[in-house]
Amino acid sequence: MRLSPRLMFPFALLAASITWIFTIERLPTLAPLTEEVIEPLPPPQPAMPVIYDFPVTLSLCPKLYVANAPPTDTGLHIIGYTATITVNGVTLARAPVEDGCVSSGFGARNDQVHTGVDLYNRDPVAIYAAADGTIREAEYRDDYGNMMVIDHGNGVFTRYAHMASFSGLQAGETVLSGQIIGVMGNTAGYLVPRHLHYEILTGEWGEQAGSFALAPTDPLALPPID
Ligand SMILES: [Zn+2]
Repeated sequence: MRLSPRLMFPFALLAASITWIFTIERLPTLAPLTEEVIEPLPPPQPAMPVIYDFPVTLSLCPKLYVANAPPTDTGLHIIGYTATITVNGVTLARAPVEDGCVSSGFGARNDQVHTGVDLYNRDPVAIYAAADGTIREAEYRDDYGNMMVIDHGNGVFTRYAHMASFSGLQAGETVLSGQIIGVMGNTAGYLVPRHLHYEILTGEWGEQAGSFALAPTDPLALPPID
């Protein structure tokens, strides 16, 4: 059937209107004026370095009077020094620092007993955990400055004093042997040169006295001769 142009006109008009309506509806709508929020990526976490091999030599600090100095060769290297010492079956680093020299040994000093060994460095070098363990104390005291005590099990503990920082660690956290636990400092209620005062302690943790109930051992003591 053929429609005359006159009859087709209303249909053509209707079709054009529908096309126009659809065209209008298809017009792109304006994008909302909200910016996409991009969360900044967290800063990359530095890998926690762990020292697996502590240095096998240790020297006395040159041009310094060193109390209770162990015997050395002419180059001030401690004779018979080994990187570690084993106490009650726990192997501990004797000098758990990035770099340092002995500025004071263990034993009677002035009218007191020096209960550890002092490892000196002019610079704020890293301090390492002497062995795997759990941090029992991490606090400031006027005598020891920022002080950390690590429990290594078997009644063996190590104390680190005058630290500049604890590297974000706190009591209750576990650490690995050779893990950085802080930075060498000179914190105390009195003037003290930058150094690590390092103690090896044995015994039973004190209910009241905490680590001060423990007995100190000389970290530089030579192994017993069989
Ligand atoms: Zn000391």
